[in-house]
Amino acid sequence: MPVDWVVVGLDNGGTMNNGTILDSDGQFLLDEMVEVPSNVREGPDKAIQSLVNSVEQVLARTGVPITSVRAVGLDSPGPASGEGVISSKGATNFGHAGWRGFDIRRALGERLGLPVIYNNDGNSAALYAHHVRFGAESGQRSSVAAIVGTGLGGGIVVSGQVVKGAAGMAGELGHVPIPLDDLLASGQSMPACNCGQSGDAESVASLTGIQNNLLPYWLTRYSDHELAGLPIGQAAKLIRKYAENGDEMALAIFRQQAIAIGRLFTIAANFLDPDAYFLGGGVVEAAPHFRDWFFAEVRAHTVLRAEQARAAEISLVPDLDMAGARGSAFAARDWLIRQWQEVVPGFLSLGRRYP
Ligand SMILES: [Zn+2]
Repeated sequence: MPVDWVVVGLDNGGTMNNGTILDSDGQFLLDEMVEVPSNVREGPDKAIQSLVNSVEQVLARTGVPITSVRAVGLDSPGPASGEGVISSKGATNFGHAGWRGFDIRRALGERLGLPVIYNNDGNSAALYAHHVRFGAESGQRSSVAAIVGTGLGGGIVVSGQVVKGAAGMAGELGHVPIPLDDLLASGQSMPACNCGQSGDAESVASLTGIQNNLLPYWLTRYSDHELAGLPIGQAAKLIRKYAENGDEMALAIFRQQAIAIGRLFTIAANFLDPDAYFLGGGVVEAAPHFRDWFFAEVRAHTVLRAEQARAAEISLVPDLDMAGARGSAFAARDWLIRQWQEVVPGFLSLGRRYP
């Protein structure tokens, strides 16, 4: 298919990279993800090569020549700076010592000879949800996305752009403290988060929160529960299945998560008043009856003023497995278009400049 120019979007994960490609008309040229082992555990050198392999795979699959690629969008798990420098203290996904303080964006850009636009994976998924919902109006809209996984990720998009903040730490929704009155049950201790805080959104609304805080408490209330005999990490991963089957204890746990997310959205309503609140994560892919119940609980605990309720919507993040790569592609395309708008004559020569 003849294309004017394209951008490639890459989602770097703990085991796999996902890749996709977006053309100058804003159309994805692939319906499915192209997966390549990410090799992040083997350190930066092998992992950067794997990202290059991802680009090559995407191009091979679509028959698009590398000369048509104007930019590459990349996301990875954090913590990293807004410009893609992995935390000097290391990060869960980047255990190899070589990753500490490593500039993944620059390294990939130098290897490819192309501009690379970096976001953390939560921000990328937030940007994807925003684009899918608002399309051509993306640049005029704002949204907040909360994505429940091992942690609570997501991001803030204002006027179509990810808000990164002065230090790259904006949109860390998981670490926003939330009110816990009428959320915690009697005798339930204050939930702790890996970030060092207590009672933030992630301490309740994440798999880690279930494992460290919610499940240990609820198992004291349901001591003869089948999950009581399992190691806590294993039990935490099974809890959603139990909730789908209507298990009382599991539903109590997910009700606490829904309240936490609703309260987080309430904070967002007062702070940002966005056009949309997106909810993503494993729960979106759960059995429909359970997903709908959970979503209704989140809505019920999101306090919007009447004007806000009329103006805004609460909805689910679509295609979560593709959201990172596709959001990265949108970030690259948006960046290119902004450059183009700023320097029209230089547009075609941008291929070898860095942002
Ligand atoms: Zn936290």
